[in-house]
Amino acid sequence: MKMPVLFVGHGNPMYTLSENEFTKAWKDLSKTLPVPNAILCISAHWETNGTYVTAMESPETIHDFGGFPNELYEVEYPAPGSPELANKIQKLIANTEVIADDSWGLDHGCWSVLRHLFPDANIPVVELSIDYRKSFNQHYELAQELSELRREGILIIGSGNIVHNLRLIDWHEENAPHDWAVRFNDNVKNHIIENDFASLLKIKTVDKDFNLAVPTPEHFIPLLYALALKEPTDRISIFNDKIAMGSLSMTSIILES
Ligand code: ZN
Repeated sequence: MKMPVLFVGHGNPMYTLSENEFTKAWKDLSKTLPVPNAILCISAHWETNGTYVTAMESPETIHDFGGFPNELYEVEYPAPGSPELANKIQKLIANTEVIADDSWGLDHGCWSVLRHLFPDANIPVVELSIDYRKSFNQHYELAQELSELRREGILIIGSGNIVHNLRLIDWHEENAPHDWAVRFNDNVKNHIIENDFASLLKIKTVDKDFNLAVPTPEHFIPLLYALALKEPTDRISIFNDKIAMGSLSMTSIILES
């Protein structure tokens, strides 16, 4: 039994409390996913100098944003942690020192999605940070070292957005997305469908839309963590394939055999 791997476009933190086409897809997905022993989340919202893994028994719910309604600050996702899984990850990743963390918790990149996928919050969750000093290639190689966790019932979820430009968000949901956002999202999707991950690893230098679509890399990198775990027998399905608010791609993938 091999667990699927997910990359989820998380989008607006308010989706935590919404019922819309995206959250409906998350709920539908939850009905088909095998129940994992634990969840490992690579969230765009935990960037660090070095690589850390949350190792506490009870991670706190972090409200890492500003300017949202009070009800979003009241959301709790009281899933247990898993010091055992954190320790296993420390041992599993050979090329990088992974440091046990007891000060972070679960950020909204993680809980805004998990609250829809696993609303009971009864499955242990561990987060692995994104070392902002690493290149796309280095992240991809690090992620490959996690592959055996899939056979131990661990659901690995990368949470980010393929296109993520907050400065150019369009609050009129009915408007068409920006041309460059559609183009970049389509290019990335094509590379995914064609299994051409090498092109994604160098997309920064070859795609003229990269700087607008990915002004900072942290929301793109979780996609590389998911793709790095693809095995030859896995097929890739794309869901929530839509750009919200002009410049936030919700496009998500699942790898499963
Ligand atoms: Zn985000």
